[in-house]
Amino acid sequence: MPGRIENTSTSNERKLNFWERLYLPEVFKGLGYSFRKMTREPMYTMEYPEEQWYPPDGYRGRPVLVEEEGRPRCVSCNLCAKACPPMAISMQSRDMGGHKEREPAWFEINMLRCIYCGFCEEVCPEEAIIMSKEYDMTFQSRDEAVFGLERLLIPAERLVDRLEWLAREKNPQFGEQTWAYDPDNNTHSLRESSLSGWLEAGGRQAIEDEVAAAGA
Ligand code: SF4
Ligand code: SF4
Repeated sequence: MPGRIENTSTSNERKLNFWERLYLPEVFKGLGYSFRKMTREPMYTMEYPEEQWYPPDGYRGRPVLVEEEGRPRCVSCNLCAKACPPMAISMQSRDMGGHKEREPAWFEINMLRCIYCGFCEEVCPEEAIIMSKEYDMTFQSRDEAVFGLERLLIPAERLVDRLEWLAREKNPQFGEQTWAYDPDNNTHSLRESSLSGWLEAGGRQAIEDEVAAAGA
């Protein structure tokens, strides 16, 4: 059936008078309202970029990686990448061969995908990825929007506000001091665990023998 126009007005609808049909009085009323706001009320707009807004500590700006003594806190566990809804995070770990088992060989966040949800910060067991106060980012190309370690790593001293806010606000939320960063957590390694010692002292051979026997 072809479309048609129906007049849905009812007979008791008020008719517009002459001035209302002109619209001009309403236009001047609107201008008067704007003028009153401009002259009598405080200004909320800022002359960006000369004037810039400094967000509160709980603000979720772009995610950054915490750097301590020149090294990332991150142990490349991949949890943040798993939790990230738009799959903005990717990384590759590398074996550190020391008391800290792994670190990211590369770590990237695609800022065009990031929705600033803060899930990465919530799941990180090392408090290694946190939300910063940086909100103004511009890119000339899509490639530029992919931030690597060189742009993600920020020294912990420059992130004190957020780290303290996390300890202050998140700990009560979880009922105990779960959010306070513990450096010991950052140095765990299989190499130094009892499992590692057991493997070296013949455990590995025992497993291999068992697997071979099962396959025979
Ligand atoms: S803030 Fe959200 S979207 Fe952005 S990297 Fe973290 S988890 Fe992904
Ligand atoms: S969750 Fe934390 S420790 Fe794990 S890979 Fe992400 S930033 Fe690194």
